[in-house]
Amino acid sequence: MSETTPGGADLAARAAALDTADPLAKLRDRFALPDGLVYLDGNSLGALPAAVPGAVEDVVRRQWGELLIRSWDESGWWTAPERIGDLIAPLIGAAPGQVTVGDSTSVNLFKALVGAARLAAPGRTRMLVDATTFPTDGYIAASAARLTGLEVVPVDPSDAAAHLTDTTAVVLLNHVDYRTGRLHDLPALTRAAHASGALVVWDLCHSAGALPVGLDAHDVDLAVGCTYKYLNGGPGAPAYIYVAQRHQGAFDSPLPGWNSHVEPFAMTPEYEPAQGAARTRVGTPDILSMLALEAALGAWEGVDVADVRAKSLALTDFFLECVAAYVPEGAVEPVTPAPHAERGSQVSLRTANARAVMTELIARGVIGDFRAPDVLRFGFTPLYVSFADAERAARTLGHIFG
Ligand SMILES: *Cc1c(COP(=O)(O)O)cnc(C)c1O
Repeated sequence: MSETTPGGADLAARAAALDTADPLAKLRDRFALPDGLVYLDGNSLGALPAAVPGAVEDVVRRQWGELLIRSWDESGWWTAPERIGDLIAPLIGAAPGQVTVGDSTSVNLFKALVGAARLAAPGRTRMLVDATTFPTDGYIAASAARLTGLEVVPVDPSDAAAHLTDTTAVVLLNHVDYRTGRLHDLPALTRAAHASGALVVWDLCHSAGALPVGLDAHDVDLAVGCTYKYLNGGPGAPAYIYVAQRHQGAFDSPLPGWNSHVEPFAMTPEYEPAQGAARTRVGTPDILSMLALEAALGAWEGVDVADVRAKSLALTDFFLECVAAYVPEGAVEPVTPAPHAERGSQVSLRTANARAVMTELIARGVIGDFRAPDVLRFGFTPLYVSFADAERAARTLGHIFG
């Protein structure tokens, strides 16, 4: 209990005061979270929005069961990828008409990278790829480069600018590193890529829904991201792809399925791409998970991402303070950067026996995750995580080492 831990009563009282003053605190009611659980893994699988079960029930029983094939028009199934893309757009700073939902992040990354390589100026031969990246991004980048005749150059994103030359065609970067939680400078890196004449593809998996992205404001070319982390779309929810309006007319998809045709139902043997965001579609949308995502996005109604960012930083600051107070000196070492400008919405702590420590934390009702070989990862999702959760998580961690 907090009273038996040095400084505990004080920190618990501070947590209660911070929760009382938190303008986003009431948003937790938009989620169905089990009582008594501290959930700090929303950067891996977001919590269940309370509106989703009823919406899915309606999609299955009425839209599919009763309306049957009529639902492609009457229930708006056919236009769901663009409609739901437009719900995500404001969360990533994009005007409508530039985002579609569908397929996995991996598949969208493939479309974006090959598409970017085909948009790049002739004679450019290199693709700079964030070498610390989530593995799938590296695998897909290698294949996209091979297919388009580019050479992959692994870079550390924080000094990617130093590797830009007049032979750089495409740059692939992660906005937030999934393992360390480090936030990279999207405006500056995008500017540097453009100054060298390259296109930039941003992976937003660990930033969208946690902090402002500003795709349009910073002239980003293409971006992808997943929806089952901070956007709470559910396991395997479809990902999204952004192609800036100025590139849409020349975007040449490597997967030009019939859904991206200008007239899909003309069923013509010749391919003619749709105008606009629909050009990034491939095949029939995965309607069940897509409409679960649409219902999940209702949790963002009236929410300003700037407020989400402010709470996220306050939560991670407070968690780090609690860890310093509760966990014996030297037992854990924060690997997430301290400066706010370099911090995403998670805290990663390095420790020996990280896997066993996380197993014990989960057994005590605090869910975070473990990343090999020695990282404890705690994701802070401001829509439903409280300051009391942060205090309890740190206190429980302290007890494990105590
Ligand atoms: C979560 C994540 C993915 C997931 O890719 P899927 O194809 O949707 O499984 C890809 N890249 C990054 C950086 C991620 O964090």
